[in-house]
Amino acid sequence: MSRTPIHVMVWGENIHERHNERVRAIYPRGMHRTIADAIASHLGADVNVRTATLEEPEHGLADEVLQTTDVLSWWGHAAHDRVDDAVVEKVHRRVLGGMGLLLLHSSQGSKILARLLGTSGSVRWRDVGEREVVWTVSPSHPIAEGVPNPFVIPQQEMYGEFFDIPQPDELVFISSFAGGEVFRSGCCFTRGRGRIFYFSPGHEFYPVYHQAEVQRVLANAVRWAAFGQRRQQAPFQSEKKPMGWFTEPLATAPEA
Ligand code: ZN
Repeated sequence: MSRTPIHVMVWGENIHERHNERVRAIYPRGMHRTIADAIASHLGADVNVRTATLEEPEHGLADEVLQTTDVLSWWGHAAHDRVDDAVVEKVHRRVLGGMGLLLLHSSQGSKILARLLGTSGSVRWRDVGEREVVWTVSPSHPIAEGVPNPFVIPQQEMYGEFFDIPQPDELVFISSFAGGEVFRSGCCFTRGRGRIFYFSPGHEFYPVYHQAEVQRVLANAVRWAAFGQRRQQAPFQSEKKPMGWFTEPLATAPEA
């Protein structure tokens, strides 16, 4: 049986990669390409993966692109404030309508996270390249499937609590750092029809997105967030209903 592939759009701010030699050495084609290639290689024919970046018109997220995207992956850091409010509005609406959203690393400070979750997303942080250990706390969750528990990221930026987000609907990973802090590093939310997964590993100075365990998480998250592939659906809307509408045949139900 053939299946419709999941249409994935991997969005990258693509600023550090162009302006910082150290980052370019790790991600010569940009983090978004590495992430896109990882998802494509793990999920094969089950996905169709595109990429877009900040500098493109409408940030590469024109209506026709968003309308044909099942899962959007988002990495931003240096230019959150340059993301057009109109694009944020459209992404928000598409998530409510069922598009999946992966929010990666410093996207905790993005406009779209604040818009969807209603909090600042602020964290404690330090960048000294310390060891991060990622622990699975929901072993039966599909995003944890095939992910070693724990796995180690040799060098990472530390993100620590308190992380200003609502209580996640499901917590899949927590991380501990060499310096002692802990962090809710893999968090699931639902908003409207849409599924959102926040995953914190992914600082631009370290080859985190080249790491097999991280790629596994991203691929699993795409599958999870694509739930139902509900393209073209409208967000939920309030509906006036007549008394008895769910017990009587609709044709005989009294008019509202
Ligand atoms: Zn970072």
